[in-house]
Amino acid sequence: MNPHDTTLYNMLLHDTALHDAPSQDAAPHDTDELSHSTDAPLIFDTSDGQQLRINTINTFLKKRFGQKVAKLSLDGGFTCPNRDGSKAAGGCSFCSASGSGDTAAGTGDIACDLETQIQALSGKWPNAKYIAYFQSHTNTYAPVDELREKFYAALSHPRVIGLAIATRPDCLPDEVIALLAELNRKTFLWVELGLQSIHAGTMKAMNLCYTRADYDDAVDRLSEKGIRIVTHLILGLPGESPAQMLESVKYACTKKIFGLKLHMLNLVKGSQLARTHPEYVSFQNIEDYTDLVISAIELVPPEITLHRITADAPRASLISPAWSYKKRTILNGIHKTMRQRNSWQGKGLRQP
Ligand code: SF4
Repeated sequence: MNPHDTTLYNMLLHDTALHDAPSQDAAPHDTDELSHSTDAPLIFDTSDGQQLRINTINTFLKKRFGQKVAKLSLDGGFTCPNRDGSKAAGGCSFCSASGSGDTAAGTGDIACDLETQIQALSGKWPNAKYIAYFQSHTNTYAPVDELREKFYAALSHPRVIGLAIATRPDCLPDEVIALLAELNRKTFLWVELGLQSIHAGTMKAMNLCYTRADYDDAVDRLSEKGIRIVTHLILGLPGESPAQMLESVKYACTKKIFGLKLHMLNLVKGSQLARTHPEYVSFQNIEDYTDLVISAIELVPPEITLHRITADAPRASLISPAWSYKKRTILNGIHKTMRQRNSWQGKGLRQP
């Protein structure tokens, strides 16, 4: 299926489940409620009094489960083949020593780590449900019995209603795919695949040690089992033009994916990039990033959920862009600029 085919845009108005086949208990997708013509903006949520022109995962989860659902980041104690010497030792060039997650280090007891976070959030969200998000390092890089034990430990918490598992596309052997398929039948699951860029030169320069073909293969094998996929792309990798970044976004959206995660490259302490390119700045200012990310969002089909549109690096480890820790300011600016420009997710895919 070519998502740039303009029929896709119109199909959304009638069939919102192109990428996420809902189980029988699924609530209707939010866009079922939209009244829309191709000349009017696509509005996904107005619950905070603003027009949200992006299909955020938060809105999706709230509508699907009928209540607040939040992600809890976990460090499952895994490592990564790009760090332990199997593929390389230094890691991807932009990766911090903590494995691109910067989550609190795990105690080794998944249920305990979840409970600690849930207690900390109980004042803010007393009745929320949670997605346990295995974020740090490569969360399918361990013997399958260990993976099974840790994933089921997370699911055993009564407030956990789903799993998100972040991994590399080259770390999905058949037995792991089988485990993920089993989990997918029992709970709400997505697998987050790092792609970062589709450009071979960038992938090599960033020492990713996987290829676009690895990504394609992983997408095919997960899709075959009906497992939701979230693709992670980084905007502003060294040497890439805005056109190349948008090509990566377009390519990711040609696949059968449930979600997309976009953010600017943050140069962080402890990364290889901080040593080799200490002066590098991915975007000079918030306005430049806002322009680029809105151009990217306009290329994303409306049924694909957006899981992130800016980065979240802890200020203590951030080198550049110096402003990128201002997450709320950046997000407010993106939403405001989209309203000012009458932009929305998928606008660039409209029929002329
Ligand atoms: S695959 Fe992930 S955890 Fe491993 S080095 Fe790259 S960014 Fe870090």
